[in-house]
Amino acid sequence: MTESVPSFDDRSREGLAEIVDDFRRYLAYVQGLGFSGVALSENALEILDGWGKQRATETLGAIRRDLGDCRRCQLSTGRKHIVFGQGDPKAKLVLVGEAPGYEEDVQGIPFVGEAGELLTKMLKAINLNREEVYICNLIKCRPPKNRNPEPDEIAACIPFLQRQIEAISPRLICTLGAFAAQALLQSNQLISKLRGEFYRYKGIPLLATYHPAYLLRNAGRKRQAWEDMQKLQEAYEKA
Ligand code: URA
Repeated sequence: MTESVPSFDDRSREGLAEIVDDFRRYLAYVQGLGFSGVALSENALEILDGWGKQRATETLGAIRRDLGDCRRCQLSTGRKHIVFGQGDPKAKLVLVGEAPGYEEDVQGIPFVGEAGELLTKMLKAINLNREEVYICNLIKCRPPKNRNPEPDEIAACIPFLQRQIEAISPRLICTLGAFAAQALLQSNQLISKLRGEFYRYKGIPLLATYHPAYLLRNAGRKRQAWEDMQKLQEAYEKA
């Protein structure tokens, strides 16, 4: 199982919890000494105790507003639309592709081109429809001529994907293609090695499989992709 390295947000939250805990103990100590300048009730101490331990749950709408008319990387100059994501904000399953293509850029919706049609069929084959899952991408703007995403583009965009996953809090994640799997698992392994296995992303089971666009070009891999879909269905039904 590959465990992800804690994000900056996780580390800051843990750091904050530690500071608050120290502060709370210090205040309790001075209060115990009868220091009159600090008037803290048990209730106030309890509230302080909870600070930093609570996970602020953001809505997808708030994350989208924060993204705004994003100019954080060069892809913003050529895009028509930011492709944020689509589906149930409380979905049990989040599917993560690579980046919008031509049709997705025009419509602002993920996986609506040829690869999207195949993805919709793959989901249907395991009794799922697009409305009950959440579909998004590692990168939210179309790279020119559908080239691979650059590391700086991934670095600029991935915090938003991480926040989307945190907001949805799915039971399962399925990555489509090498880029999403490698980025979320912080791995350099080939997709042919990663696929078909469950890993964990921040404790959430993550299954890596091939990208539908790759399957359109390499029909011989469809059998393996079907095996992966069956594993996903089994996990989904148990989740
Ligand atoms: N390929 C992707 O990775 N994502 C899309 O949204 C469309 C095609």
